[in-house]
Order: sequence, then C-alpha cells, then structure tokens
Amino acid sequence: TTTPETHKFQAEVQQVLQLVIHSLYSHKEIFLRELISNASDACDKLRFAAIGNPALSQDDAELRIEISFDKEAHTLSIRDNGIGMSRDEVIENIGTIARSGTRRFLEQLSGDQRKDAQLIGQFGVGFYSAFIVADKITLTTRRAGDAADSGVRWESTGTGEYTLETLESVARGTTVVLHLKDEELEFLQPWRLRELISKYSDHIGFPIRMPKEIGHDETEANEGEEKLALEWDTVNHASALWTRPKSELKDEDYQAFYKHISHDFNDPLAWAHNRVEGNQSYTSLLFVPSKAPMDAMWSGREERKGLKLYIRRVFIMDASEQLLPAYLRFVSGVIDSDDLPLNVSREILQQNKLVAQIKSGASKRVLDLLEKISNDDKDKYQGFWNEFGNVLKEGVAEDFANKDKLAKLLRFASTSSEDKAQTVSLDDYIGRMKPGQEAIYYITADSWLAARNSPQLEALKARGVEVLLLVDRIDEWMIGYLNEYAGKKLKSVAKGDIEIDKLADAGDSEKRKEAEKAAEGLLGKLKTLLADKVRDVRVSHRLTESPSCLVLDEHDMAAHMQRLLKQAGH
Ligand code: ADP
Ligand code: MG
Repeated sequence: TTTPETHKFQAEVQQVLQLVIHSLYSHKEIFLRELISNASDACDKLRFAAIGNPALSQDDAELRIEISFDKEAHTLSIRDNGIGMSRDEVIENIGTIARSGTRRFLEQLSGDQRKDAQLIGQFGVGFYSAFIVADKITLTTRRAGDAADSGVRWESTGTGEYTLETLESVARGTTVVLHLKDEELEFLQPWRLRELISKYSDHIGFPIRMPKEIGHDETEANEGEEKLALEWDTVNHASALWTRPKSELKDEDYQAFYKHISHDFNDPLAWAHNRVEGNQSYTSLLFVPSKAPMDAMWSGREERKGLKLYIRRVFIMDASEQLLPAYLRFVSGVIDSDDLPLNVSREILQQNKLVAQIKSGASKRVLDLLEKISNDDKDKYQGFWNEFGNVLKEGVAEDFANKDKLAKLLRFASTSSEDKAQTVSLDDYIGRMKPGQEAIYYITADSWLAARNSPQLEALKARGVEVLLLVDRIDEWMIGYLNEYAGKKLKSVAKGDIEIDKLADAGDSEKRKEAEKAAEGLLGKLKTLLADKVRDVRVSHRLTESPSCLVLDEHDMAAHMQRLLKQAGH
C-alpha cells in the first residue's frame, strides 16, 4: 500500500453532486438501482472482452453482483466481479464528468433550483446518487487482466476532493462501500434491500446475491456481515428480461428495464417485445419514451444511444445508428441476434445484410406500434405526436419504403379548427373532403397565425374546403416528398391552379367570365407596371375578401422556402 494521494474533483462534478443530493432526496433509494446498473454494465463488458481473451474471466467465471452490509460499521457494499477499472480509468470515470450527456446537462442548468431539479429527473444520475445516502464512499477496484497488486482504492466524502491509493491484493472487479449517513440506516435492513432489488433490478441479467438469512431468530441479527463461509441467495430473476416469455412479464418489469437502459426517469409510453424466427432469428424489445429528452440532448442527430445490440445474450455495443434509421432515434431497447458473429465491429455492422434486415424489421415494428396506439388510444398518440412528431416527419423524406405508413401517422393543424394543435390526420381530412374535391390542400407558412390568415385560403374557405396548415420548420421540406396519399394528390394552395371550378356551383361560371372581361384593362396596366417583377397577372377566383395575392407556378419553390434560402444568403 502506498500513501493516499489527494485529488480534486473536476469543478463540474461538485456541481452535479450538490444537485443530485438536493434534487433527488425524495427518490433516494434509486442509488441502489444505479450502483447495480453499473455493476451489471461492468459484467457485460467483461463478458464481451472475454470473447477475445477468455483468460480475463477464467479464474472466477461466474459473473455476479453481491450486496452485503455491516450493521455495526453502518456500511453497505455493492460488489461485482466484472471488468473493474485501472487507476487512470477511476480518475477519468469517477473523478470527472465522463458522460457527454452529463456535460450537456450542466450547460442546460438555469440556476433556478426547481427547474434544475426537474431537469435532473430527466437524466441518469449514476454513481454520484450514492452520496444522497452516504457521507463517505470507498471504491476498491482492479481491472480484469491487470496484476493482483494493481488494485486501486478511491475514497471521498463528496466535498470537492477524493483520495487514491494503490492496493496490493484486490480481487477482480469493483466493490463500492457506502458509509451510510445516520438517518439512512434503513438501507441496512435485508428486507428493505431485497424489496428494492425486486422493484428496480429484477431484470438484471446477472445474479444479484445477498447473504442468506439464517432463520428469523433475533439472535442472528448480524446475518449480513461478511463471515468466512458466507452463504448467498440470488434475489433477482437473473436472466435477461427479453429472453423471458411475454406471458411471464408484468408492465412493471418492462418499465424498470426501460429505466435501466435509457437513463430516463419516466415510464415508457409503449413497447413491443417480439421474437423473430426465420432465415435469421432475433429478439427485439423496443421502447417509445413518453417524454422527449431535454433540448440539448435532443437537438443533435449525432449522439444516439439506447438501442443495445446483444448477440446470443452477450452485450456487444450501443448500435442505435446501425439498427434504426435516424428519424426513430427516440426509440431505445435491445436487439439480441442469434446469427451475427460475436466479433462484429461497427464497420461490419454498417454493411452486414442480416443487420440491414434487422433494421428494416425493427423500423416496421416501431411504426406498427405507433399505428396501434393511434388506433387504440387517441390521447396517448397525441401525447406521442406532441413530443416526437417533428422527428417522425423526417422519415417521410428518409424512409421511402415506409412512406405510406408514416403518412398515416402524421398530424396537422387545419382550418377545421380554431386551434393550432396538430390533431388532424390525412385520413380525417379525406373523410371530410367536399364532393368533387380531388386534392388534399395545404399551405405552408412561418407561423400558425400567418397560415390561418393567408389570403390564399379565402376561396377554399368560402367553399367550406379544409386546408392543412403546415407551420413547422421541417414541413416545407417534408411535404416535398409527399406528393400523394391514398390516391389523392397533395396540393399547395400557393401553387399553380387550384381547381376551384370543379368545386364551385355550376351557376358561378357565367359571372366569372363577366368579371374576367371587366378586368381586362386593369390587367394590361398591371402587367406593364410589374413587367420585371412578375411572370403574369391573372384574374383569380381564389380570393373573396382580399383584392390580390401572389401565387407561385406549379413547380416554383414555395415562398416560405425562398425566404429561408434568402435568409441563409442564397
Ligand atoms: P454511467 O453508468 O451512465 O456511465 P455512472 O455515473 O453510473 O454513469 O458511472 C460512471 C462510469 O464509471 C461508468 O461509465 C463506468 O465507466 C465507471 N463505473 C462505475 N461503476 C463501475 C463498476 N462497478 N465497474 C466498472 N466501472 C464502473
Ligand atoms: Mg451508471
């Protein structure tokens, strides 16, 4: 043993620590779930590393997690025989904010305690949550494959500093010892610990063990202490959740599992659990969240996490980008393949045919799930749309094969209501089409108000024809890829001719001809005046209140798009 060295936490760590302790006090028991989750990740990582190097786990091959306690010392220990950490890794992972998500979380902080507490509820708090219940934490670890004398002890009271020490004889893996605060001694009760493991960690695929309870005799009050021949009970189900039959799994099981893989505090909105057998076999368990992650984590398409690739029960890597298209990046879950080789790399995944099949199968599952929700529970679907609609719209342009499925899932604001909520589906619209109406009409604009009040709507409004109001940034781009739905053309009211004639009462047409004649002189003057500004000046019947409006040729870029490009300097 060397003398302990003192290190300072990275400044941000201190900030996260304080926030976690204050914001999550009312959910303090989640610390156990977080530490077990880390232990499980560490076992996953060792199992993966041992594929290429079996010696790494040979001496103690049964991967497991052990929870024990010492009632006199007021300590609770969470131990795993997983991958462990080297000295550098301890500094990197525990002493700094290693996760980019956490760093971006910090950028989001407003300084307003209440708002920040809500924010922290939206991201996984991880290791530091242990400081909610502990006033000192001792972490001892040795990385698999490193010599027995390269163990590391990390210790901190969570107040700005930690100490590091090299140890001579440490078992492979990691032990986290929590020195519980005086008011948190409930976590020394075996029944309480067992209850929490069942509630939050039953789905963990490795055995979570606790010291066997030796009868209910009060004289055996020290049953949790480390003794020489300690006997253990497995407390959790200890098999990968997605491999268990659906009939055996309760909603709570799926919910707890979702929280483990997604770091989301909210329950998922829905999930689909399927086994596919055929030219290849795999299991998929896919979750749709109920809330979009906070803005900063969401805006970019770069970092996508939460869809895990397993191969025959072995965790391989986070592979959202390889297993789902970008427009489904809100989905998390597990794909467990029976057929892929264990030594796949990201590059191989990129070109593998089986992976391409899995990707298209998984996309279809998600879209089917969304369609089912939209049929079964309108409110629930509306909740989904409000959170993720704008992301789903990207699919119309990106996923040609599923265009029709996607179009069915779209929701719009429309002239059918005085509300800007996006609630109208294309099927709703078609159901309300007027006799003789052939197209689905829409208008794009910068805002709902601008769309709603556009003079270009007047003629259709006067004839009771509904118009979809497309006002999101992405709409103009998306609608360019959607020319048709259910055999009906989608037409912009700002482009070319809208066939008012077919919609109008037959009697109108005489009157119109007269009006056109009467305006001939005026038209001529306007054409000369505006010669270098417009292509043509016509009498139009689309207006009922405004004297004039600008129209685009059928193939012109929409006005809204032209404005955007101009702003961008084109
Ligand atoms: P997360 O698990 O989301 O990455 P945590 O704060 O829970 O965030 O953990 C931070 C990092 O510390 C982990 O990513 C991992 O590298 C390391 N770590 C934590 N606990 C363990 C453990 N039991 N074994 C090995 N590494 C661990
Ligand atoms: Mg963690």
